[in-house]
Amino acid sequence: MANLILILGDQLSPRLTALDGADKENDLIVMAEVHSEASYTNHHKKKLAFIFSAMRHFAQELEREGWRVHYQHYHPDNPAQSLEQVIAELAREHRPERVITTECGEWRLHNQVSQWHKTLGLNVEIRPDTRFVCAIDEFARWAKGKKQLRMEFFYREMRKKTGLLMTPDGQPEGGHWNFDADNRKKWTGKPPAPAPFREEPDAITTDVIELVNEHFSEHFGTTDDFHYAVTAEQARQALGHFVDFALPCFGDYQDAMSDNEDWLFHSILSPYLNTGLLEPTEVCEEAVRAWHAGRAPLNAVEGFVRQVIGWREFVRGIYWLLMPAYAEENRLGNTRELPWFYWTGDTKMRCMHKAIDATARNAYAHHIQRLMVTGNFALLAGVKPEAICDWYLAVYIDAFDWVELPNTLGMVMHADGGYLGSKPYAASGKYIQRMSDHCQNCHYRVQDATGDKACPFNSLYWHFIDRHRQDFANNPRMTMMYRNWDKQAPERRQAILARADELLKDIENL
Ligand code: FAD
Ligand code: SF4
Repeated sequence: MANLILILGDQLSPRLTALDGADKENDLIVMAEVHSEASYTNHHKKKLAFIFSAMRHFAQELEREGWRVHYQHYHPDNPAQSLEQVIAELAREHRPERVITTECGEWRLHNQVSQWHKTLGLNVEIRPDTRFVCAIDEFARWAKGKKQLRMEFFYREMRKKTGLLMTPDGQPEGGHWNFDADNRKKWTGKPPAPAPFREEPDAITTDVIELVNEHFSEHFGTTDDFHYAVTAEQARQALGHFVDFALPCFGDYQDAMSDNEDWLFHSILSPYLNTGLLEPTEVCEEAVRAWHAGRAPLNAVEGFVRQVIGWREFVRGIYWLLMPAYAEENRLGNTRELPWFYWTGDTKMRCMHKAIDATARNAYAHHIQRLMVTGNFALLAGVKPEAICDWYLAVYIDAFDWVELPNTLGMVMHADGGYLGSKPYAASGKYIQRMSDHCQNCHYRVQDATGDKACPFNSLYWHFIDRHRQDFANNPRMTMMYRNWDKQAPERRQAILARADELLKDIENL
């Protein structure tokens, strides 16, 4: 046999570089559901079911197209429990010329595969992942010599590179690069939010759900009501559904949260983008076509394009630029363990309960819930970055290290000193009240910072500001906060800090 071609669970793309020039007759494609990958964190049950099912469907498509595929189904007693063991076994049997793969999305696995030539004594070829707009070395060139890396400037480069939303003479459509100022509306129930795209489980998905329920019963979340797409064709239908029904309002309500709606106007495309069922330019082009056809406004389409070719590519660039040291960053010196209610949703804080409950049911919460609710709380409470990062990696269907880590450690926890934002995204209950209807149904009173029923976010916010004076008082974007804090009467400040101390002491019971 010529080559073993390893395809990972987030590499389900027919144009994967590992397949370039491959020989259908002689090469053997290897795909494996292995214990080490399925259990290195407490992956949500729906995340496991989605990835296993999408892998099985992809393997079936490859076989239909005439490829030879070795596929290992998950079983806890499989002799090969890791990808390395799978490759070692197959290499003994087939004596391949080379093992070919595309670079992994996680430093952990990338590091292992990079050693296989030594540990397995094989000829291993690792090819670049070309399914992103910006290559890893291209990002490093852009970043080189810059004092500050700002997503907004990177995003403009990506707009120019792709031509997305650019006029023929090289200007941004609509005269501005960014229409975010239009995108901060509270949602009050109208227009109604569309139901999310649904794909009912077929026989493969049903089998996988049974497997997950049997072997991963201790993992977080539920497989009930599984309705994610699991093939590229279904993912394209999900894209069409988003463009038709949610994109027109995506911009306006991008930052909104609701007590009654899990998905609002978000695209729910991240699982498909991150596993390769969809490609970033394909989804942006579809959105831009809707704008040209007058089916979606520019603020919505620009906002969507910015998330995909701006934020998504930027966080990947940061990850590969700074790993592996990046994962160890803890610039704010946090030491607190993750409160247990992150796993149970059992908290009187309505906004937290709603975000965690949706996460447990859907393996999904939208960006503002992740950033301004569960993330904000962890930041204000001073949770250890590694503990909160592990939670985000486990609980979301779209969570892969390259995208989860910079978002959590950088954007949410500000543990990297500010690559993802020039100031921390810390906010009091007032922000959550402005962008949602959670507070009206909450045990706590959002208007209070002191007293037994005062919203925890309020005193914790000032506690955060106060305890990190050294870190942020000289940040020009924070001077107003310090001025406001210092303006308050000393007794008031003391009472707020005392309330925060009480909350932190009794954090498991909030
Ligand atoms: P939409 O709101 O519809 O946005 C469209 C697309 O833009 C998304 O599908 C996604 O591909 C991309 N996107 C938007 N924001 C970001 C961002 N900040 N970083 C990268 N891509 C972005 N996204 C992940 O894909 N995987 C993760 O593990 C992940 N972890 C996160 C952890 C935290 C603490 C935070 C604050 C954000 C995280 N995000 C992550 C980013 C973002 O929340 C999700 O991409 C988004 O919620 C996915 O839902 P959607 O497809 O409906 O997104
Ligand atoms: Fe969240 Fe505070 Fe509002 Fe309750 S009052 S929902 S804890 S912000």
